Amino acid sequence: MSLVVITDDRFGDHTVPAGFPERPARLGAALAGIARSHAVDAVRSMSPTPAPMEALVAVHDQAMIDLARETCAAATVDRPGHLDADTAVVPATWEASVLAAGAGLTAVDELRSARADTAFCLVRPPGHHATPSHSMGFCVLNNVAVTARALADAGERVLIADIDCHHGNGTQDCFIGDPRVMFVSWHQWPLYPGTGRADEIGIDAGRGFTVNVPLPPGTTGDHYRASVEQIVAPEIERFDPTWLLISAGFDAHRADPLTSMGLTAGDYTQLIVDIMDSTPRAKVMAFLEGGYDLEAVTKCTTGLIGALVQSTEFTETVTSGGPGGAAVQAVAEVRKRAMEGG
Ligand SMILES: [Zn+2]
Repeated sequence: MSLVVITDDRFGDHTVPAGFPERPARLGAALAGIARSHAVDAVRSMSPTPAPMEALVAVHDQAMIDLARETCAAATVDRPGHLDADTAVVPATWEASVLAAGAGLTAVDELRSARADTAFCLVRPPGHHATPSHSMGFCVLNNVAVTARALADAGERVLIADIDCHHGNGTQDCFIGDPRVMFVSWHQWPLYPGTGRADEIGIDAGRGFTVNVPLPPGTTGDHYRASVEQIVAPEIERFDPTWLLISAGFDAHRADPLTSMGLTAGDYTQLIVDIMDSTPRAKVMAFLEGGYDLEAVTKCTTGLIGALVQSTEFTETVTSGGPGGAAVQAVAEVRKRAMEGG
């Protein structure tokens, strides 16, 4: 198995105010995780092609794209602009954002041409909070959504598995009515941005193609595993995706400063393996989303790389026995009722 990492030094030029958790040092932490992987010899890196405007307007309103570009252009490094309270931008942010949005399209080209078997888009800014109409929550453009929309338009069935600790509200909004894209999110509840209840299952033709698994603070890996077995895997088998896009946020790690979940890097590895095992025919790629403890990002990235090349490597032990079991049962019941109702 060969893996291509789509990344670029320009992602580090998106600088942020002092103390901001979503910072350039996260890139180096992830690169260290790749370097430590026993599969490092299977890895090569390349720069992304910037996303073309057609791919951006397939996901986002033109007005939102214009506002983001103009806010970046009007900012200075010393006086950043703000797209929302959490989303500071400097002039270099725009180029980084368009490269980040294009990374998945570059990865698709690499996988389709068999120049690589799998891909990791190591990008900043992250994307999963960016909605069709608003940049928010550290995210300017929705990187994973740009790729999923392009694949769906090319006739593919796309599964997005969002393992970031926060609900991927922007990605959900993009595909809430679209049966070509299944969106699954595991997230701490309650937590920013406040969406992702179990009864959010999709609307209209997309009904049933959104799967939300809200979990309480402290949830351990065994309950994530149970949620895959009992709730998510049957949905995925029914959908039968041809592509799997993993929104790989590592902020559900127990060391993360913004969240309160109980996972280790080993749990993340197991979760990725379990998701991949339920999509045996799909081409697979991952996108970096959140994750704010640098050592956790390093260890989780090592686990991700191993899982992607089907050479699993546990950098920390898996966990069990914490809270979360009752929540998984509740999600299953709420989802069943929501699917039956209306
Ligand atoms: Zn997050």
